[in-house]
Amino acid sequence: MAQLHTLVEDAVAEIPNESPCSPTWDDYAPHFQQGVPLLQSSAAFIDSTAPANALGLLIEKMSSVLLSGKLAQETRLVESELRGDPDAPRRAVAWLLDRDVYASANPGLLRYFGWTVLAHHLSPLVDAFAYWREEECWLRSYCPTCGSRPSMAQLVGADPGRLRLLSCGRCKTRWRYRRIGCPFCENRNYDRLTVLLVEGEGGLRIDYCEGCRGYLKTYDGEGSEEVLLADWTSIHLDTVARDRGLIRSAASLYEVN
Ligand SMILES: [Zn+2]
Ligand SMILES: [Zn+2]
Repeated sequence: MAQLHTLVEDAVAEIPNESPCSPTWDDYAPHFQQGVPLLQSSAAFIDSTAPANALGLLIEKMSSVLLSGKLAQETRLVESELRGDPDAPRRAVAWLLDRDVYASANPGLLRYFGWTVLAHHLSPLVDAFAYWREEECWLRSYCPTCGSRPSMAQLVGADPGRLRLLSCGRCKTRWRYRRIGCPFCENRNYDRLTVLLVEGEGGLRIDYCEGCRGYLKTYDGEGSEEVLLADWTSIHLDTVARDRGLIRSAASLYEVN
């Protein structure tokens, strides 16, 4: 996974990134108050031309780099799907943004390539949005930018004012949520929330809810966000959680096969 990740990140970095336009924040403000994520709001139109082109370029590049094995074969299959119809890359991007349906023979791989491209493309918008929004006006269990469930969490600051941030595995937004409580079933009963410490996991733990069995990998610290909140770097913790019958609510981008 690490090798593939480096290849994909390097390829995406080489593709010219055209930043999306920021919306008129005042137009979006009422939707924000109602809990409509930015990318699902009619007040924030995201032109999918640039990310659709970038997705086509990335997959073309990956099929020339990955030469053998199952992953190479599947990448070529996704590439031929996208080439087969001039409108396919745009529809694939609409599907990634939960706006349309798109049938792919390998949705996992397309989701991984697609969200890597989109996260890169949206990064200036994610930063501008974080700067604009008042965190205490959101506090919802889904991503304020794209609407996804959190893939991870982070505890920041020091007690008694410690805060919990949730982290989006798709667009990389981090947002504030209640310190105590399950973001999947809203259970706030402290006795039914459990922390699972895994030996040898400096900084990471698994927080889970005995009510709905939902879990969140949680980074208990600051400074190594880049690595520890990357989700794919702690796939082994998802295996530990799954072996205990716990449920991951957010789709993983890393189930590529
Ligand atoms: Zn998101
Ligand atoms: Zn729960």
